[in-house]
Amino acid sequence: MPENKVRKYFSLIEAWAWCDICDDMVALNIDKQEIINGLKMSIYTKEYKHSNPHPDVEDPDDLSGQEHTIYIYINEDYDITGVKAFFGESPTTEEIGAKTIEAGGEVRIPIVVKEIPPMAVQFGMLNKDQFKVLKICDGMNTIEQVASIAEMSIKAIEKMMDQLRKKGLVKVIRRT
Ligand SMILES: [Zn+2]
Repeated sequence: MPENKVRKYFSLIEAWAWCDICDDMVALNIDKQEIINGLKMSIYTKEYKHSNPHPDVEDPDDLSGQEHTIYIYINEDYDITGVKAFFGESPTTEEIGAKTIEAGGEVRIPIVVKEIPPMAVQFGMLNKDQFKVLKICDGMNTIEQVASIAEMSIKAIEKMMDQLRKKGLVKVIRRT
């Protein structure tokens, strides 16, 4: 899988994100201000609907000509920390971590149980990192993906999940 790339300009960035469905890089421009505004809350995700203008017509499995969506996670340095490609509203639970399961591994998907208002941080109920990580626990990411999007170690995320589970804020679904 080629690496995601970003070119940074004065007021916008040009993001090149790998789309699993197109099996190709997708390029788009994003305003820096939009990213800054998004990051004020916690994390920034760009949602981009598109279809592959050049699908492989010989390949019946190539559905990339149909409209689909990518989510691009971008950090405060305007770098891409994760990309999700899916059809419909969100990836299905079967699609998440399917490759890990094929390889005989276990997939853990953390899911937020309770909606947390940003006030929770001001009131000291959660710290900023916990709030940010909770936003990534949208049911679309495995523990490993949450760690890489949040740019934290898997160990640190596991520890945080324990704390958040005790507070009744997340549950971790296991699939093998
Ligand atoms: Zn695509």
